[in-house]
Amino acid sequence: MSSSKAIHQVLLARLFPIPKIGTPKIDAESLRSFRQAFRRPKSIAAYPSLSRSISSAADVGEPRSNSDPREPSRTPTASKQAKNVGSSTPKLGHIGAHSQSLMFERVDIKKLTKQLRKVDVVDRRLRQVLDGSLKVMTTTPPAYPPKKPRIHEKMIQAYSPTAHEFVNVPNIWLRDNCQCSSCVHEITKQRLLDTFQIPQDLDVDSHERDATGIKVKWSDGHESYYTDDFIAKSASLTENKGIVRQAITNLHLWGVEVSENPPTVPYPQLMSQESKPLLQLLQQIRRYGFCYIDSTPATPEATKFVLERISFIRLTHYGGFYDFTADLASKDTAYTNIALEAHTDNTYFSDPAGLQAFHLLSHTDGEGGASLLVDGFKVANDLYHEDRDVYNILSSVNIHAHASGNEDISIQPYKGFPTLNHDQQTGYLLQVRWNSSDRAAIEMPVEKVEKWYDAARKWNDMLKKPENEYWCQLTPGRVLVFDNWRVLHGRSAFTGKRRIAGGYINRDDWISKFKMLHYGREKVLKHLTVD
Ligand SMILES: [Zn+2]
Repeated sequence: MSSSKAIHQVLLARLFPIPKIGTPKIDAESLRSFRQAFRRPKSIAAYPSLSRSISSAADVGEPRSNSDPREPSRTPTASKQAKNVGSSTPKLGHIGAHSQSLMFERVDIKKLTKQLRKVDVVDRRLRQVLDGSLKVMTTTPPAYPPKKPRIHEKMIQAYSPTAHEFVNVPNIWLRDNCQCSSCVHEITKQRLLDTFQIPQDLDVDSHERDATGIKVKWSDGHESYYTDDFIAKSASLTENKGIVRQAITNLHLWGVEVSENPPTVPYPQLMSQESKPLLQLLQQIRRYGFCYIDSTPATPEATKFVLERISFIRLTHYGGFYDFTADLASKDTAYTNIALEAHTDNTYFSDPAGLQAFHLLSHTDGEGGASLLVDGFKVANDLYHEDRDVYNILSSVNIHAHASGNEDISIQPYKGFPTLNHDQQTGYLLQVRWNSSDRAAIEMPVEKVEKWYDAARKWNDMLKKPENEYWCQLTPGRVLVFDNWRVLHGRSAFTGKRRIAGGYINRDDWISKFKMLHYGREKVLKHLTVD
């Protein structure tokens, strides 16, 4: 390995420390783009906040001693490598003043690292592309064993697995998140405390540790108690942040083989007052992205009951719960009898429906109309391993969409969204948005747009691989409920008259129901301000 390559690796590792659990290794591709970003002046200018940060650090002119290469370094390799590179003395000021002639070899690694850390939060997307953290998470991230919080020089400190050290938990944050019943409503968990009445110079009068947490007497006279668990969680890994909030569970990715044993729950049990069958239904949907409800009476009422057992039905410009026979009344291709390729619904909404239900109530005087399901997360995961460039393009190029079939509407999301939409904090895939019929603008310079088309063609080819397509013939009595953020649906052409009932449920509503049944109210509400 050349010495400059070694430095890049050390720098990358220090910029984006890799916790032992749950994050991928830096691959050659990320490393190459990182190197390019720092080699070419043009590239660094493309990250204005980065260049700004470097320039402002230079303007401030931090004490010389901080960049002294003789200073003992926490990572001996880095400083050793830095000294091997060239004879010039590292000067950060040089970079700020002449960023156009940025030369990697002149960079003081320690100071650059420090500066780049500051922009970590705002440039999260840059970080995610660089360290390859955008991905399909198929298992619940393992909990990082927390270290007990400590008191250090009048500050409460939590162990940060990201920083690999204890970090101060600021007094203002602790005071603002006091969990006592005069600060937080005991039932609604709404904040009762007026945050901006907390003195800016709030200090601690005393700390008192016991077996399970820390009691604080504040200089404003208030007393708070924080459990160790609560404090530890405040500094936990970002990868572990959303487990309860987003109800991250183990996913079963599937292809055509799911047809042998598709997940199903019987209707009569769902009808009961018991919550267990409902939890089973939602668990299956969370795990597989869909579930059948069998032995359902072939009526609109029973179908509606299934949906409302989960949550209330969403209203759209097409209405709420629907019961229609194929005609063109609703002016959307879904209501005709032509074949529909695998797609997700509502790409034209900022917040596409979370769940969708179909129930074929009857099919007379004809045939065809098989239903198609494709596990979008499975195909995305395959793509991730097959072609990372394509995955990154589909994850970062925003696409616009529209619904303009009815004369008096043209609905568009408030912003464009990528086809593979990831969580900005954890980097995990959250949502697949794919409907070529409803696609509007592609948010990139037109002269570069072929890149997106090439990527989309690859994605389209993978969606249509026979091994990824699950074809099923819906029958009266079998309700299909699926996760519209994960599973794409389509159908073959048909003849005759089909009567179909169904509806949408919001994502937030069904995840809320699932969380409350799966974890219980206490666990869900316990970590609202740290999860
Ligand atoms: Zn309080």
